[in-house]
Amino acid sequence: MSSASETFFTSVGCMDGRSECAVAKWGRKKFGVEYADAITEAGLAGLLAQDHLDKYLIDSLENKIKISLEKHHSKNIVVSGHEDCAASNAASEEKHKEDILKAAELISLIFPNTSVTPVYVKRDGEEWTVKELK
Ligand SMILES: [Zn+2]
Repeated sequence: MSSASETFFTSVGCMDGRSECAVAKWGRKKFGVEYADAITEAGLAGLLAQDHLDKYLIDSLENKIKISLEKHHSKNIVVSGHEDCAASNAASEEKHKEDILKAAELISLIFPNTSVTPVYVKRDGEEWTVKELK
């Protein structure tokens, strides 16, 4: 169990450390919390945007997000995708952003009472910047 003073948000995205690290830093500041619970798969937003969803993947994500919300009292979920993703098959940045929005919508349907923020992590030289998609 976490102590009452420890605060979290929930980061749902790619396992890529460059993106994960940028989202964790951004979310800690935005939501005023100490930690990010990282729930990842390679190219996760793309997997969640598909018409035929992998039930095992959805169940696994749902279970992990639930632990973050219930045991860590997270109040915010961030769904991210990022530039230069080795696992994404999105043809363009626009399509990739559409996938992220679709993935965020799906997470919102599963957790209707929690705020879900879709973001795109963009490379700017050696820096990775997080941009909200709505
Ligand atoms: Zn990736």
